[in-house]
Amino acid sequence: MNITDGWLSAAKRVVSPNFDMRPDATDISMIVIHCISLPPGEFGGDWIDRLFTNTLPQDAHPYFAAIEDLKVSAHALIRRTGEIVQYVAFHERAWHAGESSYAGRTCCNDFAIGIELEGTAETAYMDIQYERLAELIAALLDCYPTLSRRRIAGHSDIAPGRKNDPGPSFDWCRLWRLIERRPVART
Ligand SMILES: [Zn+2]
Repeated sequence: MNITDGWLSAAKRVVSPNFDMRPDATDISMIVIHCISLPPGEFGGDWIDRLFTNTLPQDAHPYFAAIEDLKVSAHALIRRTGEIVQYVAFHERAWHAGESSYAGRTCCNDFAIGIELEGTAETAYMDIQYERLAELIAALLDCYPTLSRRRIAGHSDIAPGRKNDPGPSFDWCRLWRLIERRPVART
């Protein structure tokens, strides 16, 4: 996977307006794993793209009306098919973490890359999603030397009590195994 100017060449690009500049552009030092499905528990369709581009039709589902005012984004989404969609360049600040804290620092959006998995906290993720996630993390580690395998966390870890994603359905051991298998090339 190649990253050029903050964008994955292999990803579908759906540009979100929900981003701004990081306070320190050189500080990209953690990865946050999330899950999302729209409506909750349903997979497929382009509702997530629509949410992140502020074009979700309120009348299409009662849940959509409830989140009408939400301005959110993530850097990338890994769909259940393995397709990757990118919304925000990795060096920009996406709006995924909300009120959060990691290793003594608050406002994780400032320094984090947010990756969404299409799924729920209760439904097993797809094999291809783990594979793609590991490939994406390897590419990010190559591209941004300030990132580290040791600074990858779930949304629930940085916003405990408020968020539960990616949930008990996410197999962290499996991710660690996949990441460790991959040598990280440094030039
Ligand atoms: Zn989340």
